[in-house]
Amino acid sequence: MAYDSDNVFAKILRGELPTNKIYEDEYCIAFPDLNPKTPVHVLVIPKGEYTDFSDFTARATPAEIAGFFKSVGKVAQQLGLPEKGYRLVMNIGHDGGQVVPHLHVHVLGGKKLPV
Ligand code: 5GP
Repeated sequence: MAYDSDNVFAKILRGELPTNKIYEDEYCIAFPDLNPKTPVHVLVIPKGEYTDFSDFTARATPAEIAGFFKSVGKVAQQLGLPEKGYRLVMNIGHDGGQVVPHLHVHVLGGKKLPV
């Protein structure tokens, strides 16, 4: 699927939609989910235009991929999640339940999550 530059996260990246950015570096930005499912629910998105995990792993450079995942770890650290634990979720495509077609990692925590 071609990247749709009108998607909501592309607009957030371009500063066309407001968000409460909690973290930014050369690889990503992170901001709270609009409809949090857990006490802590943050989205981490790469700055590059990738529709989903499959697109990212196919087209991004190894440095971008490593940098992005290191950044996700930094976000979790900043949120104070590693001590008690947390969950990372990536919904991929139609069957995966992905709604916004720009790769994002859900960082979920702040309570014991059901298995
Ligand atoms: P998906 O189902 O694509 O993995 O998750 C998309 C997530 O983006 C949902 O959890 C939804 O609440 C969140 N979301 C959708 N639109 C916005 C928005 O404009 N701002 C923020 N912060 N989150 C959004």
